[in-house]
Amino acid sequence: MPETLAPPPAGQISLDEAFAPTKLMPYWLDNPAAPSPAAELLQATQADLLIVGGGFTGLWAAIQAKEQSPELDVVLIEAGRVAFGASGRAGGIISTSVMHGLPNAVRVFPNDIEQLEGFGQVNLDGFEETLRRYGIDADIEWNGEMTVAVDEAHVDHLSADYALHRRYGHDVVLLDRAQTAAQIKSPLFAGALWSRHRSGIVHPAKLAWGLRRAAISLGVRLFENTPLLRLHDAGSHVEVQTPKGSVKAPRVLFGTGTAKVGVPDINRRVVQVRDHVLATEPLTDEQLARIGWAKRQGVYDTRTQLNYFRLTQGNNIIFGGLVSYHFDGNPDPAEDGRKETYHRLAAAFYRTFPQLGDVRFSHAWGGPIDYCSRGSVFAKPYLGGKAVFVAGYTGFGVAASRFGAFMGLNILFDRDSPERGLDIATQSPTYIPPEPFRWLGAKLTFHAFDGADAEGGWKRAWIKGIKALGFPM
Ligand SMILES: Cc1cc2nc3c(=O)[nH]c(=O)nc-3n(C[C@H](O)[C@H](O)[C@H](O)COP(=O)(O)OP(=O)(O)OC[C@H]3O[C@@H](n4cnc5c(N)ncnc54)[C@H](O)[C@@H]3O)c2cc1C
Repeated sequence: MPETLAPPPAGQISLDEAFAPTKLMPYWLDNPAAPSPAAELLQATQADLLIVGGGFTGLWAAIQAKEQSPELDVVLIEAGRVAFGASGRAGGIISTSVMHGLPNAVRVFPNDIEQLEGFGQVNLDGFEETLRRYGIDADIEWNGEMTVAVDEAHVDHLSADYALHRRYGHDVVLLDRAQTAAQIKSPLFAGALWSRHRSGIVHPAKLAWGLRRAAISLGVRLFENTPLLRLHDAGSHVEVQTPKGSVKAPRVLFGTGTAKVGVPDINRRVVQVRDHVLATEPLTDEQLARIGWAKRQGVYDTRTQLNYFRLTQGNNIIFGGLVSYHFDGNPDPAEDGRKETYHRLAAAFYRTFPQLGDVRFSHAWGGPIDYCSRGSVFAKPYLGGKAVFVAGYTGFGVAASRFGAFMGLNILFDRDSPERGLDIATQSPTYIPPEPFRWLGAKLTFHAFDGADAEGGWKRAWIKGIKALGFPM
């Protein structure tokens, strides 16, 4: 029997009220613990390894490169500040998988699942061990991740995923409606799949700042507010121009996500999709009691236009998941500042948790998702092997970025490593059609997302067709 919900004591507030205190910036970055900026690069310099991009990929690459070869001179340049890209904007749900989840791994690399699962385990062990070694406190809670069915019809998908996870030894439980309500109360949730170990939640900006500190302690030379403007392949090395300096290096690792760095092939394979997120004001104990959530799992739902949510240590709810596409990957789209975007997300929040109708939002923000056709990280060599690009996490890079950086460094330094013999390292995601077809396809797809679950019809057929073409949804 569905659990009855206590009526909201304070009633539903208006959207104007809900957004009265809202700051348009990531909750995670609005924190006095943010480090002051590193110096900008003001001269010509040389390095053994240049890393471009100070998100998780670049930071993990810097740390691993120095740990593997302490004598390497490593320079990291970041266009803005560390964690100002996707890494400081994420929901911060940690997933065991390096492949955007087990079902995606089965879809893309059915022959290599055992090894990919193994990489996921080794990666998380290394992740935890690194945080311990450098004393990084990133508010991690290993309470698992949970997928909640928002429709009875979706419970069958969860059952299939349950069987798959059990086959590969995951500690998962399948919950019916009442058992789900005992974990987290929403009138929408018809069931849940809870993966109880080796996943959880993290404060993503604190993680990035901790990795930044670790990289600097290892001798990495970090320059912030230092964008790569142009690169030149000089045969034996690559020369990178920045606004007030330059770097010459025989090896370059691009951890630049969806940005354009002057290698057109990259942006044929990776598309920028914007995702949007809300943070509530801290819940009072009484408000928290209305939804339960004592185990504080990271949660995804099964909507086609997926929502994800988790608690912070201060009991704000982070509620994300409203995607948009902007012509040619505009990195600063107007939608990130439009209140209508966040009103739509707030409507999904209140639908999910009607008993929190009196809760307001403290922060709202958008961020770039590096979408690719295989739905998971790839590392591809460029410039005759002197450079490697690492991205494509498609919204699941908080932990997988450590593995992406590892694979990228192995390719760049031509090291023997078990993943290099597998399709994950030798294959790349397919091309995505150029503009304006890309824009048109994305617009139609996102229009179909809205209402596909309720209306079906052409919207569901379109999404099925896109999936059949091999694009993860
Ligand atoms: C809203 C949102 C929610 C998410 N939620 C989750 C989640 O819950 N769980 C999960 O696992 N993943 C999540 N992700 C995905 C995850 O955040 C990313 O996969 C991960 O942060 C990617 O890290 P990165 O270092 O590759 O990219 P980024 O963090 O984007 O870093 C790239 C960096 O490169 C810099 N750069 C770009 N161009 C240049 C240039 N020319 N010169 C120098 N520097 C440059 C940028 O400024 C940026 O700092 C989410 C992403 C978003 C946007």
